[in-house]
Amino acid sequence: MKIRFDHTTLGQRVLFGTGAAAANIATALRDLGVSRPLLVGGGHAAEVVDQVSEEFGVVGHIDRVVQHVPAERAREAVALARDVGADSGVAIGGGSATGLAKIVARDTGLPVVAVPTTFSGSEATDIWGMTEDERKTTGTDLRVLPRVVVYDATLTQGLPADLAVHSGLNALAHAVDSLWAPRADPINRAMAGEGVRALVPGLRGLRADTADVRAHERVLYGTYLSGVALASAGAGMHHKICHVLGGTFNLPHAPTHAVVLPYVAAYNAEADPDSEARIAEALGTPNGAAGLWDLARAVGAPASLSRIGFTEDDVDLAAELATAAIPDSNPRRVSQKSVASLLRSAIRGEDVRR
Ligand code: NAD
Repeated sequence: MKIRFDHTTLGQRVLFGTGAAAANIATALRDLGVSRPLLVGGGHAAEVVDQVSEEFGVVGHIDRVVQHVPAERAREAVALARDVGADSGVAIGGGSATGLAKIVARDTGLPVVAVPTTFSGSEATDIWGMTEDERKTTGTDLRVLPRVVVYDATLTQGLPADLAVHSGLNALAHAVDSLWAPRADPINRAMAGEGVRALVPGLRGLRADTADVRAHERVLYGTYLSGVALASAGAGMHHKICHVLGGTFNLPHAPTHAVVLPYVAAYNAEADPDSEARIAEALGTPNGAAGLWDLARAVGAPASLSRIGFTEDDVDLAAELATAAIPDSNPRRVSQKSVASLLRSAIRGEDVRR
C-alpha cells in the first residue's frame, strides 16, 4: 500500500515529573527568558503556587476560574495582564484555567506555561474556547498553544474519583475520535493508539485506587498523546456531538464525553474496520466499541445521557445541529435520523452490542 500524507505536530516542550512541578515551572520560565508571570488558577496546587511566587515576581494572580471561559472574565484577564506588565502566563488547573490563559495568550501574545490538574488535554492543543450570551465560540490560533507543559502526577492525585475517571475518559475520547477526524494520518493515529494503551490501564488503576501515583502518571502521559493526536487530526463526529450537547444543552463536559464515546465508535465500527481493530488492540479486547462500553461500565462512567440531564425532548434539535457539524471525513455517512437514533440509545444507556 502506498503511504502518502501531510502531517503537522505542534511544537511544544513537555516537562514530566512527579513532585517536580515547581522546579519544572521555574525551569520553563527561566528558559523562556521571562520573570513576570501572571498566575491563573492554582486552587488545587497551593504549595506549587507558593513556591513559584517565592521564586518569581508574580505580577498578578487570577485564582477564581469560571468554567467555559466567560468572555467578560477573559477580557478582564487580558486587561490585567496588560495593566500589570506580565511577560508570561502560568495556568495551573483544569481545562478552564488553561482556557482562560489561552485567551490571554491569543490577545497579548504572551507565552504560557500550562500545568494541568485534570486530564482535559487542553494544554496540548492550539484550540481556544470562550462563552458569550450562552454560546460557546471556538477557534484555532498557534499563539494559544502553551509553550511548555508541566505534568506532575501529585497534582491530579487530589481529584475526586468520579471527576478523575470522567476526565480520563474525556482524554480517551480525544484519542479515539482522532482516528476518523479530518486530518487523521499514520503519525497521529500512532499517537492515538499509544494514548489508548496508556489510558486504559491508567484508568483502571485510578478506579482501583484514586491515589495511585503510577496510574496518574499513565493517565497524564496518555492524556498528552491523545491531546496531540486530536490537535493534529482535528475533531471528529464524537466531538461535534458532544460540543452540541455541552454548548446548547449545557451538559457537563467530561461526563458527556464519557457516555457518548462507545456509541460513536459502534456507529463507525463497520465502516472503519481498521480503526475498530486499532481500538480493540489498544484496549486488549476482541471488539473496539464493545470494549469501550465495557471499560466505561468498569470504571464507573455515567450509565446514560438521561443520567446527566439529557431527555428525548431535545433529541431532534441536537441531532440537527450535530449532523450539520459532523465532518465529511467520518467513515460512515450520517443523517439527522442516524444521529437521533444514536442519541436515543445513549439516553437509554443501551449496550452497544444491541
Ligand atoms: P475544569 O477545569 O472546569 O475542572 C473541573 C472541576 O475540577 C472544577 O470544579 C475544578 O475546580 C476541579 N479541579 C480541577 N483540578 C482539580 C484537582 N486536582 N483536584 C480537585 N478538583 C480539581 O474542567 P476540565 O474537565 O478540566 O476541562 C473542561 C474544560 O476544558 C471545558 O470548558 C472544555 O471545553 C475545555 N477543553 C478545551 C480543550 C481545548 O483543546 N481547548 C480540550 C479539552 C477541554
